[in-house]
Amino acid sequence: MTKVFGVDRLLANNRAWAEEVERTKPGFFAHLAQQQTPGYLWIGCADSRVPANEIVGLEPGELFVHRNVANLVQHGDLNGLSVLQFAVDVLKVKHIIVCGHYGCSGVRAALQDMRLGVAEHWIRPVRDVCERHRHELDILPTESARVDRLCELNVMQQVRNLCRTPILQDAWRRGQKLAVHSWVYGLEDGLVRPLGPVVAGLKSLDELGASYLMRGAF
Ligand SMILES: [Zn+2]
Repeated sequence: MTKVFGVDRLLANNRAWAEEVERTKPGFFAHLAQQQTPGYLWIGCADSRVPANEIVGLEPGELFVHRNVANLVQHGDLNGLSVLQFAVDVLKVKHIIVCGHYGCSGVRAALQDMRLGVAEHWIRPVRDVCERHRHELDILPTESARVDRLCELNVMQQVRNLCRTPILQDAWRRGQKLAVHSWVYGLEDGLVRPLGPVVAGLKSLDELGASYLMRGAF
């Protein structure tokens, strides 16, 4: 057997994977090439240990994915907003999942106020969440507990940002069915934990209330 190195290994893996998929599901790629109709948008961290499709057992074509450091939803981020608008207005996904993960390096950097150069600007919103919840975080016994709690609080803040975008507000106003889920993933056990209730419209957003989201009472 020939040994392959570096990215050659990836290309070899790819050929083997494509052959296996075509063998077990003939016509899979030809069918998928016609169109995509994913039912879900995943907004997650870029961390290599949190691969969206694998975690939730979905195949190509089933999950529309956007990932960035610390799974942020920012109103000035044209990349993220473009993905969001395409998912909601064109693909008409039924569910949006914001999934953070415990032990997130981006969140840890924000908590520890590390010097990171340009990345500091990106994670600045997480520092804002940290400052807002400083009292709650300070009483936790360990640094790792503080990081993990901030990971949860960050997800809730991003969900709040997401629900406030004109894209979601307009979709709900015109009666589009769209539910937003707040999840956090455990690197140590591979399990997803839902955080707080599902936001399924303007009404449920009102019911959640600003205080719930601001104080992270979940
Ligand atoms: Zn992360």
